Amino acid sequence: MSGAHYNHLIALDHVSYILTCRGKLAFPVKILIIGSGGREHAIAWRLAQEGHQIYGAPGNPGIAELGPLLPTTDYLAAADSIEADLTVVGPEIPLVAGVVDEFRAAERKIVGPAQDAAQLEGSKIHSKQFMRDLRIPTARYARVESVEAGIAALADFDTPVVIKADGLAAGKGVIIAQDRAEAEAAVRVLGPRLVIEEFLEGEEVSFIALCDGKNIVPLEATQDHKAVGDGDSGPNTGGMGAYCDGRILPAADAQHVIDTVIGPVVEATRFTGFLYAGLMMTADGPKVLEFNVRLGDPETQPLMHRLDSPFGEVLMASATGNLAGVSLQWKPQPSVCVVLAAAGYPGQIRTGDLITGIQDCGTQVFQAGTKQGPKGLETAGGRVLGVTASGPDLAAAAANAYSAVQKIHFDGMHYRHDIAQKGLKRWGPGTIRTIAP
Ligand code: ATP
Repeated sequence: MSGAHYNHLIALDHVSYILTCRGKLAFPVKILIIGSGGREHAIAWRLAQEGHQIYGAPGNPGIAELGPLLPTTDYLAAADSIEADLTVVGPEIPLVAGVVDEFRAAERKIVGPAQDAAQLEGSKIHSKQFMRDLRIPTARYARVESVEAGIAALADFDTPVVIKADGLAAGKGVIIAQDRAEAEAAVRVLGPRLVIEEFLEGEEVSFIALCDGKNIVPLEATQDHKAVGDGDSGPNTGGMGAYCDGRILPAADAQHVIDTVIGPVVEATRFTGFLYAGLMMTADGPKVLEFNVRLGDPETQPLMHRLDSPFGEVLMASATGNLAGVSLQWKPQPSVCVVLAAAGYPGQIRTGDLITGIQDCGTQVFQAGTKQGPKGLETAGGRVLGVTASGPDLAAAAANAYSAVQKIHFDGMHYRHDIAQKGLKRWGPGTIRTIAP
């Protein structure tokens, strides 16, 4: 395949890479992190460990422990005010709105895709059309613009069938309908602009690569848990937990995904930043469920726990087109993140519940939906905390995360009890040594 340079193939000496980068950069640098969730806290935690000066916009109480917060959504003004050396964008909304183009016009360094490329996430209709044009493996689909056309199109699909709203929906714009009546109801709820697609069976894998317009640096694969309940029951959420283990995607499969999915996108769009392919590993090979144009949440939390390379330098290399020859090193220990959610999530949530036990739980807790109240830290969003731990093996990593969860409390707190269980079943033996619901 021509065009994109597949630099993951170039086995680089890690030390020489650090020296090369250190030669280019005066460390530490000032890094502005855009966003306010667990993903952004994890990025900030990792970069602060490397000695960088962290700023958050708008940030959250966890990020505030690592550096000043700038309470604004005028991100360029925020970056100007602190003379940021680099800005990293966490969430998709500013990317789809064109923040990267704005920074580049002002000659400020930023990690993320240009607005055009960000439409891969901003519109599912665009994304499916793009995949069809580039022959990227994905589920068969119909695109419709009205409820009537949606109901008519259902005739072309077996059940279960997947109904997706066109625009951004924070993980809640997808309904998997088990029968025709549910499918018609879903078309009415999510319509009129929809993608209707065949249901794919297999294991889901999150595959993320950092890109600089031509070079591709893959991250370790992770597995997310979208449904709210144990055993993938209940409605979909933004993600209830994730784990990172070197066995999720064997090297040959990762290579295949780069050749058939990531490479063609980078070549066609000159993609910069984090390109996330949500994959279904079907009997016919990996197929793309969705593209995201940023790091995943909660995938970033276990990824930051396992990453062993200097993240700040790699981000700077992405922002300046210098990823050629870069590869990332990972600690061998798997990592697990268990999301603690607020009462009612993913429906109508309750906020203002007092959170206790974070300080003494014994592992890293990334904050998401939190705020400082008069009595202390309170819940302020659906996904409240991401309790993240590593261990010598996956079972131990999960056990460590779940034993920390037992020490944390807020009224209405709920979480999945089976994060990483799919990996444990696949690679067995053993189940998570942890606490029953
Ligand atoms: P997010 O905002 O969390 O990225 P999203 O709203 O963009 O999610 P998708 O990732 O496309 O939506 O779908 C959400 C989930 O629905 C997937 O992770 C997967 O579990 C399920 N899903 C989506 N498409 C299919 C499909 N064709 N077959 C089976 N399951 C699917």
